[in-house]
Amino acid sequence: TISMIAISDSGEMAAGTSTNGLSHKIPGRVGDGPISGSGSYVDGEVGGCGATGDGDIMMRFLPCYQAVENLRHGMSPRQAAEDVVRRMLRKYPAVLAGIVVVDANGIHGAAASGWTFTYSFRGGTMNQTRVVEVSPVNARF
Ligand code: ASP
Repeated sequence: TISMIAISDSGEMAAGTSTNGLSHKIPGRVGDGPISGSGSYVDGEVGGCGATGDGDIMMRFLPCYQAVENLRHGMSPRQAAEDVVRRMLRKYPAVLAGIVVVDANGIHGAAASGWTFTYSFRGGTMNQTRVVEVSPVNARF
C-alpha cells in the first residue's frame, strides 16, 4: 500500500491510497484502498488519514473517517490513530493495521496493530525525509 497525505503551501489538504491488493486475493476484490473513509480520508479544516493492513476487516470500521472525526473532537493525531486501532482490536484482536494521521497544522502521529509499522514525512524547511517506527498497540488494553 502507498498512502499519502499532503498539505499544500496554501494549506489545502489531500490524501490518497493505492494498493497492490493482498496476496492470494479473490479476482475482482476491491479492498479498502479506494473506499473513502477507509483507505484514506481528509477534511482540510481538520486533517487527514491513511491506512494500511487487513483491508477486509478495516473497511468495516471506516478507520480514516473515524480518525479525522477524532481529531475534530480534540484528540491529537496519535490519540486519534490509537483510538481507531483499539476499536478494531476490540472486535478483531489479530487485525493487522497501520493508521497515519496528520492534522491541518502538519502535526502527525500513527498507531499500529500486529506489526511494527513505519511511515515517513517531509515538509516545511526539512531537507530530508524522516522515518518513524511505530510499535504495535497492545491488544490487551
Ligand atoms: N489494505 C490493503 C488491502 O487490503 C492491503 C495493504 O494495506 O497492503 O487491499
